[in-house]
Amino acid sequence: MPELPEVEHLRLTLAPRLLGRRIERVLAHRPDVVRMADGIAGDALPRLLLEGRGVAELQRRGKQLAIIAEDGAVLLVQLGMTGQVVYVGAGAQPPRGDHVHITWLLDGRTDGERIIFRDARRFGALTPFESLEAVHAGPWSRLGPDALTISPRELKPALAGTRRAIKAALLDQAVLAGVGNIYADESLIRAEIHPLCPASDLDAAQVRRLAQAIRTTLRRSISAGGTTLRDYVDGNGRGGRNRPALLAYARAGQPCRACGEPLLHLVVAQRTTTFCPQCQPLKPSTGYPQAPARGRRLRMRPTGTAAGTSRRGRQDQDSLKK
Ligand SMILES: [Zn+2]
Repeated sequence: MPELPEVEHLRLTLAPRLLGRRIERVLAHRPDVVRMADGIAGDALPRLLLEGRGVAELQRRGKQLAIIAEDGAVLLVQLGMTGQVVYVGAGAQPPRGDHVHITWLLDGRTDGERIIFRDARRFGALTPFESLEAVHAGPWSRLGPDALTISPRELKPALAGTRRAIKAALLDQAVLAGVGNIYADESLIRAEIHPLCPASDLDAAQVRRLAQAIRTTLRRSISAGGTTLRDYVDGNGRGGRNRPALLAYARAGQPCRACGEPLLHLVVAQRTTTFCPQCQPLKPSTGYPQAPARGRRLRMRPTGTAAGTSRRGRQDQDSLKK
């Protein structure tokens, strides 16, 4: 399921295709993927899907993407589980032509340049709004701070109010916007925090480490084009390359990349959660045996073996330190 890095990479790859372009025609093959925001009505569906409008800006918040027209109208895109927004060049066929629900014809011709919205499982949605203010007052008012720029100062109060397991708190979009199952596991192993640790028990050093780990994890994935498990593709129809770099997610039973201990899994908030029992100890107060005290911090190595890959990994790391 696409999370913040995938939606951010989608935004970056769609921008050169859409910004400054006018959408000449919109075809709604499957109108029920369009949700109506409160207070919006009376306009024909293609118009609500930005027909006849120029695209001025693309903004992301959490896992949501706002396509903002020059006249201020907004189309909010949620990818859900399997949603894709893909540019198709003039004369080209969409990759696998099924499940295309909406087509934006940039030059008015069905064989011209176009953007398609596909969604096999249809958990995604497109929601029209009159303005960006209406988006801020509506769905974005229910989101916590954006995970890509999260600071310890923002994260501390967001976690202080809940005794829930930290993994469950990170999945809650009202606490932090943009992190889902993949990047919650990845951020927790990088910060060396056990997924069951009560969120309000994190001390100042752990909150600092976690905020830094979340930012590093997300930025690295964005620079690798996101993580593709099955369905995610960017605005050019390409899958992400971050999967081989994953530290914890979907690696239960495999050795921890930092200490070699086999990773374990458990279920938190109905989601499979993978962690390292050695690098991510629970505090003794929670009743679990404590791992031996260690002075070292988890060092994340680039996973590529070629020298070029390692070098690039180090550069990413350097460039990502704020
Ligand atoms: Zn470990």
